[in-house]
Amino acid sequence: MLKKFLILSTASLISVSCIETQQDHLSQNEGPNEAILSNFGHLESVSKYASSPVFLSTLKKGQPYKICLSEKLVKKYPGFKEEVEAAVNIWAFYIDRKIPLDFIVKKLPAPKSGWKVNDYAKAYKQICGKSDLYMSENVPSGTTLGYTQKSVQYRYGENSERVVTDFARVLNLSNWPEQAGRRFISLEQATKKKRSAAEILQLLKSRNKTVYLPGPSTFLTTTTLVHEFGHVWGMCDQYPLDGNRSNCDPHNSTMSLDGHVMLEEDAVMSSAGWKNKLGLHDDDIDGIIGLAHRGDIAKTGWDYPSKSLYDFTERSEEKGPIRFLKLVDYEFTSDSELTAISAMDITGAFKIIVQKKLVGSKEWEKRGVTYLFSNGVSTRRMKLRMKGIDKNKLKAIRLIYVDRRHHGEINKSDLTATNVSNIIEIKQAPATANNTTTPAAVAAEANSNASLQ
Ligand SMILES: [Zn+2]
Repeated sequence: MLKKFLILSTASLISVSCIETQQDHLSQNEGPNEAILSNFGHLESVSKYASSPVFLSTLKKGQPYKICLSEKLVKKYPGFKEEVEAAVNIWAFYIDRKIPLDFIVKKLPAPKSGWKVNDYAKAYKQICGKSDLYMSENVPSGTTLGYTQKSVQYRYGENSERVVTDFARVLNLSNWPEQAGRRFISLEQATKKKRSAAEILQLLKSRNKTVYLPGPSTFLTTTTLVHEFGHVWGMCDQYPLDGNRSNCDPHNSTMSLDGHVMLEEDAVMSSAGWKNKLGLHDDDIDGIIGLAHRGDIAKTGWDYPSKSLYDFTERSEEKGPIRFLKLVDYEFTSDSELTAISAMDITGAFKIIVQKKLVGSKEWEKRGVTYLFSNGVSTRRMKLRMKGIDKNKLKAIRLIYVDRRHHGEINKSDLTATNVSNIIEIKQAPATANNTTTPAAVAAEANSNASLQ
């Protein structure tokens, strides 16, 4: 028997959200005057539904969340499943929830071009059975790293809420063709350490680690997963979408006086770059707690959150000014002009010396070309240009961090583990035209040593 108000309509809604890459900043000031604006926002659609797994925030207490995962992702990115579990539950942690996940790992066919969310659901449901989320890969458009889409069928309930009768959700990571030169690496690959889901979750909660990926166009799966699952929880993007659009609900985000949604760059819900601060940022934590406190969101059986942002571990950076220093690559713009390309995340005023070792010598030179930085640097592509370098006599280079008052020779006391960068060996001019080792190959090798700092 049908209730009087029950079936008024059935409709399908699709929403798209994605994470994009950003340029890094040359001289980001991270001094004590930095202000944090709580500009988090929520997706508009999150409030309209009755309790269902369409959003993680509307999932009933105790109900497992079923994910069908492409076997390709699991094989390509060691520790991927564990990262997914941590990415879902780091959001849950701040609102006193714990989401049990039911994983099915299956061989899922590559999507055909132009597939919509319902095409994924149709093809993958046959292989996985009905799941709350299908996770796979897709050839990206533009600078997209990943996206999640949903399609929902519903009828209206007694209080005009949307009662979900069927839905499909996909979460796809970009799968770039080789020539695109872009790639993901997993946390395990980046840090060369295997971790359980609980250990990754602990790492995200501790909020004191940054994974630097200075290699060109290398992205961490963890950051993208935490961002995308932020959308699955109901959070909106904190960077301007195409055409300066926003997917934030104007009633549940910070608005400027002229009626625009204000965005917060310091958030996991903002775009991704080479510096991957693990865990949620302050803005994200405020946002998820705000979401769980809303009275207009479906009742799930969970209590309201008991804590606020300030009850949790504060974000902390590496001790000391040198957070990251790496020599990435080099190029000779002429036979006597060398450019060293470096990635740095260093605060305060300091000097960088490019130290050389010459062919036939066992010792590093005592002096080198010196660069003064007066106000901190955070970039993955700092070019240090030197003239008067003899290409044929140069064997190796490395970078030395010294105090801004440093002058004269490089002493033993300057050469501490944190002050000295990696070494790049200079490839000498090929004896024959068939020599295929190029500086680019050296750089690629150097880049593969992403470190957890
Ligand atoms: Zn996004």
